[in-house]
Amino acid sequence: MKHHEANCLFCRIVRGEIPATIVYRNEHVVAFRDITPVAPQHVLIIPVRHISSLSELRPEDDAIAGQILLAAGTVAEILGIKESGYRLLFNSGADAMQSVFHIHGHLIGGQQMGWPPFP
Ligand code: AMP
Repeated sequence: MKHHEANCLFCRIVRGEIPATIVYRNEHVVAFRDITPVAPQHVLIIPVRHISSLSELRPEDDAIAGQILLAAGTVAEILGIKESGYRLLFNSGADAMQSVFHIHGHLIGGQQMGWPPFP
């Protein structure tokens, strides 16, 4: 697994080569505002290390998988939606319409949401 993929959009955000509104980062993850928000609060949580999709996670990636989930609560608190609630979702592959192939959790909130999340 390459750690810093030259042409990966989100690796470039991690490296600061493309501007993003970063709301939280630590040594494992970066969280930044989605450029096309679908809700009043919409932040992407990504691993610093390049992993293309959930399906590419390996057993030895257990710590980074956990770091992404742990960051969700921290980001929700920063956004002020920890109490009101939020949703964390990962699109993986074509049917889910994954468009950027660097794992990202969409943390969305700030409004009442419906379920199921599709028409
Ligand atoms: P997905 O369709 O799950 O792969 O989600 C990719 C997300 O990345 C979409 O919600 C896009 O709006 C978002 N996105 C694409 N380019 C950027 C960017 N430069 N900065 C922030 N978000 C982006």
